[in-house]
Amino acid sequence: MSDTAYNEIDAPTRILMGPGPSNIHPRVQMAMMAPMVGHLDPYFITVMDDTVKMLRTVFRTENKLTFPISGTGSAGMEAGFINFLEPGDVAVIGVNGFFSARMVENAVRCGARVVEVPAEWGSIIDPADVEAALKAEKKVKMVAVVHAETSTGVLQPLEEISRLAKEYDALFLADTVTSLGGAELAIDDWGVDISYSGSQKCLGCPPGMAPFTVNKKALDVVTNRSTKVPSWYLDLSLLSTYWTNDRFYHHTAPISMVYALYEALRLVLEEGIEERIKRHQLHGDALKTGLEAMGLELHAQEGHRLSMLTTVRIPSGVDDAAVRKGLLNGFNLEIGGGLGPLKGLVWRIGLMGYSSNPENILLVLASLEKMLATEGYKLEPGAGVKAATEYLKNH
Ligand SMILES: *Cc1c(COP(=O)(O)O)cnc(C)c1O
Repeated sequence: MSDTAYNEIDAPTRILMGPGPSNIHPRVQMAMMAPMVGHLDPYFITVMDDTVKMLRTVFRTENKLTFPISGTGSAGMEAGFINFLEPGDVAVIGVNGFFSARMVENAVRCGARVVEVPAEWGSIIDPADVEAALKAEKKVKMVAVVHAETSTGVLQPLEEISRLAKEYDALFLADTVTSLGGAELAIDDWGVDISYSGSQKCLGCPPGMAPFTVNKKALDVVTNRSTKVPSWYLDLSLLSTYWTNDRFYHHTAPISMVYALYEALRLVLEEGIEERIKRHQLHGDALKTGLEAMGLELHAQEGHRLSMLTTVRIPSGVDDAAVRKGLLNGFNLEIGGGLGPLKGLVWRIGLMGYSSNPENILLVLASLEKMLATEGYKLEPGAGVKAATEYLKNH
């Protein structure tokens, strides 16, 4: 076989309705095709400056150090722990899903002692449990929770836990990977000290960037560390020299990814953050209405359900893998399966960013109906689409 025998890239055009990545706007795609420039090119510096400004607006923060980390959401998570926790520190972490469990793993690797505050996978963390953990410990360095748990479909209220963290003089970290650009989020008003996100969920950008924001109080903790940050790549004091004033070379910024994020943020602001949140809410509610009309059960705790990601229980006797394979092969449609203890028990249907539109709602309901019927599940034909259509018409 000669070296020229490899096929050219011929990726299928999928409809991405899983837990991310979501589909990207054509303008974001186009932005990635812009000419390469140097990472200190005057033009690129204007793009960096504007990206930072737009990120501050979307995070609703005045934090000077607000920038995209080069890496996916998990790189943001790692930066959120490794800069602040030193060996022997205590971290109180709300654990109610796959991503909060990953936070624990990050904190443990920093040498911290983790106090887990558990809840069911599908319920919120009870602030009273966080308070009990804080009371029982003498000195807690950080309290951390996931705002939008993409593994369970739960939206965690942040304000009360933030207040408690302050009362006990701990830093408050919130994972906003799935909520940024899709749900109400106010970093400064809610007293979030450290937060990271991801580009491929509600921002509608390819995976590869982790928007990050940190306030002065938390940065002072980094400055006053007794040990060096064990990660050179994610050391905030080094990264800040490139992303704020000095423009010192640290690592080569992924230029095309920054273009993509820049354009994605421009789209968020053109739509308006409040409008965008409303769109995610409306579409999420219409989808849920349709699923329930098909006789399906929603998994997440009522009153705390995510708009951009819906967990729905797989009816007994229905083959999880066969349905998802049928959706992909027959309809080019990707939805997510369950993670961890929810594997085989739920589907995760995303309506994130550019993917959050009425056509996708109707498509997923109709195609899911077809696949469920193939599996022998009894339902009233067209009930899901009809209910969702009505909902959209009336709201
Ligand atoms: C997707 C996700 C992550 C991880 O992001 P990657 O881009 O996959 O590294 C972290 N937290 C939450 C809540 C997520 O949904």
